[in-house]
Amino acid sequence: MKTKIFTLIVVITAILFTGCHSNEDIPNEDIPNKITPDANEITQINVYPSDYTAFSGETVDLKVEAVMSNGEIKSITEDAVISNTNDNFATVNNSSLVISNKALTGDSFNITVKYENFLEKIKIDIKNSLERNINAEGVITNSSSYDAVMNKERNLPSDYIPEDLVTLSVPTCLKNPEVNQLRIEASEALSKLFEGAKKDELKLIARSGYRSYNTQTSLYNGIVNKYGQDYADKYSAKPGQSEHQTGLAIDITADSVSLQLEDTFGDTEEGKWVKENAHKYGFIIRYPEGKESITGYEYEPWHLRYLGETLATKVYESGLTLEEYFKNN
Ligand SMILES: [Zn+2]
Repeated sequence: MKTKIFTLIVVITAILFTGCHSNEDIPNEDIPNKITPDANEITQINVYPSDYTAFSGETVDLKVEAVMSNGEIKSITEDAVISNTNDNFATVNNSSLVISNKALTGDSFNITVKYENFLEKIKIDIKNSLERNINAEGVITNSSSYDAVMNKERNLPSDYIPEDLVTLSVPTCLKNPEVNQLRIEASEALSKLFEGAKKDELKLIARSGYRSYNTQTSLYNGIVNKYGQDYADKYSAKPGQSEHQTGLAIDITADSVSLQLEDTFGDTEEGKWVKENAHKYGFIIRYPEGKESITGYEYEPWHLRYLGETLATKVYESGLTLEEYFKNN
């Protein structure tokens, strides 16, 4: 019995021993490739900043790093290829991204950074904050931007006159040629909005668009003289505080309210259509019902403000006023 066990141990040992030896007989080329200790390869690239919120006119300096297999980090900013997917919003200058002055709050785009076989995408969102665009006197510094915000705390410069005013191509009802103007992009958008309404068999009429600082001064003083200061401040804007001075705001009306500007416009077929569709053409109802304490103005279902399609749609979908949208986003 002891002999049998001894023999078994000898046999098992021999098998194991032979097994060990047989490994050495495998030719080298059959051994799976191993990473040789001195190989130091790139495992990934990192781009800084990664996702980023920029403002129009900003220059964003990008840094690109390679992470090596041994943990080392190498700067490859100079050698990485940076490209922009939308030239309307920014251009690439060496390793810097120059955000266009035309980029508006709500716009977003990607840039790609390439090095060897590595590719990274960065998302850039544009936001022109309220704080950035006002001076110590409470005068805004981006008057000509489509995303400029003015209200009773944010004045336009008294000498601001838009450079690209044109006469409206839609039906109007006032004789004063000044108010039958808007900035070209807003005017073209308004034409499309009116056409859209027409397709749904609704007829809109423009009442009052651009108003110069001087016109607003006469209008405001006239209301003060007739109804008093309190009334004027509630229903009219002080000079420099009217969106109409931007050439981006327009009061519209319809036969159903006898071409007047009345709350009841909001309940007409025309008013309801405008409320639901204006954003598709780049406009918002600037002074919605129930938001008087935020906008500083009574409900004005007739007063449209041009922001461009992207921002108007975002503001509309948020259900917020322009002021709230800028504070919350
Ligand atoms: Zn208005």
